Amino acid sequence: MDDIGSTVTLAGWVQRRRDHGGITFFDLRDATGLVQVVADPALHPETARLRMEFCVAVEGEVTARPPGTENPDLTTGSVEVTASRVMILSEAKTPPFLIEDRVDVEETTRLKYRYLDLRRPRMTANLRARSRAATAIRRTLDALGFLEVETPTLINSTPEGARDMLVPSRLRQGEFYALPQSPQLFKQLLMIGGVERYYQIARCYRDEDFRADRQLEFTQLDLEGSFWERDDVLETIEKVLSAVVAELRGVVVETPFPRLTWREAMERFGTDKPDLRFGMEIRDLSEVVAGSGFTVFRDVLDGGGVVRGINTGGREWTRSMADAATEKAKALGARGLVWMVVEESGSVRSPAAKFLSEAEMAGIKTALGAGTGDVLLIVADGWRVAVETLGALRIELGRPGGHETLSFLWVVDFPLFEEAEDGSITFSHHPFTAPESIEVMRGDPASAVARAYDAVLNGVELGSGSIRIHDPVVQRQVFEILGIDAATAERRFGWFLEALEYGTPPHGGFAFGIDRLVMVLQNEGSIREVIPFPKTQTGSDPMTGAPTWVSEGQLADLGIALAPEALARRDQDDG
Ligand code: ASP
Repeated sequence: MDDIGSTVTLAGWVQRRRDHGGITFFDLRDATGLVQVVADPALHPETARLRMEFCVAVEGEVTARPPGTENPDLTTGSVEVTASRVMILSEAKTPPFLIEDRVDVEETTRLKYRYLDLRRPRMTANLRARSRAATAIRRTLDALGFLEVETPTLINSTPEGARDMLVPSRLRQGEFYALPQSPQLFKQLLMIGGVERYYQIARCYRDEDFRADRQLEFTQLDLEGSFWERDDVLETIEKVLSAVVAELRGVVVETPFPRLTWREAMERFGTDKPDLRFGMEIRDLSEVVAGSGFTVFRDVLDGGGVVRGINTGGREWTRSMADAATEKAKALGARGLVWMVVEESGSVRSPAAKFLSEAEMAGIKTALGAGTGDVLLIVADGWRVAVETLGALRIELGRPGGHETLSFLWVVDFPLFEEAEDGSITFSHHPFTAPESIEVMRGDPASAVARAYDAVLNGVELGSGSIRIHDPVVQRQVFEILGIDAATAERRFGWFLEALEYGTPPHGGFAFGIDRLVMVLQNEGSIREVIPFPKTQTGSDPMTGAPTWVSEGQLADLGIALAPEALARRDQDDG
């Protein structure tokens, strides 16, 4: 409104053009928004050629729209620009989809024409949010005395639990660089190098299977400090996250964030990344049904298992819903699922009702705080399967859509090790994480607690960190427990073990995913919406065609020959 009467020069793209009784209207869109331009085609004949997505420059005067023609949906909806000059800077083919927020088009098409997709206001806003988040991070850490340091991307493997992405060496054929799964070892070397406070907005590469919040390459805020303890790290990260939230959401986050130990998180929510925006907590029913004649419960309890349940609240509960929930429980490894609906009479509708005594029913209802209409879900199984199954059902049935409210949480005291799929012992965070107690780690590795912590936002794991091992003797012991023999440890990590021998300061740090954080704060359902040029779910880029075949000459330079199956596929692609 303040601009009325001023002369402006605008440049952007034509959103749409309309001709009305000798007057042409078109909406001009640039990175900041939309404005309506009015032109007299008699004075500006080029307006007749304007089509969607033509790139144009306009000079003109900002005028108030005639009363009754204002558009309240537009920030500039009370004004328009009366053109004194219209210049076509470049023409455009008809785009494969409309450049507006509501696009009804396959994601592959959006990614193939990402440069057009990025013109959509929502994507523009996401890019802007991402940039502002990075600036807020830098501003905060700079004020706290952190140094921004870059670390290399052609390195040796950094074990973070994923498969490495490899890059073949031309000069040393047959040898490979790994792209960093994270700058973990380099940031630790920076601590040894005397950098007391380090950070980096770092690209990381993990050859993992794709999910909604995973990509082969992603961006983390990576941070490390010397001579500080866990709470110093958590406090710093709280400051950084609060600054980003203030920047993108304009709200103050309450700090310190609540904390749960890993055990508590698993017991109450069945996951190490609980969404605390809703209740539906897991309750222990083992005692209530301790003497039950119901064999499903009794056999599990006799076998050392547990009976746990959740109250999913009052909801419709049809046979097919019950079947779907049972299927889900089984897919998660549970033997089954017992469901109960509390009827108005106070009696319980459940396939298990006839096997349970009045007292047991009453006990279950009390333990779960059940009222009329509530649907109760119960799993009898080993502890881990029981809580994780209920945790997953809780999320499915209770999780609010979107991310209107924000609920941050620290999960602390993770186990140091966990069992791998093949039954061997593996690290839960990474092998450089310090144990809470070296004695426990040596005596009973399975029960050892790590000085590791995760940040969670609305049930999304933002990132992890830990206090590190700074004693080479302990580091060697951890490798040993992980089944990495001394010779292998020397070969793979000898250079790092040696570095630890030179007066390593106690240190620790953290890393969180910027993609995930911006995804939540922008209320998006996938990190692909906030990554400028992401890959599809199968790791390809429909725009550039990556990954692609390379020439025989390039392969020869690298000393690489393709396997017969790959050659067959290449010939098929060529044909
Ligand atoms: N390097 C770890 C990760 O990428 C984070 C850390 O321990 O600082 O998850």
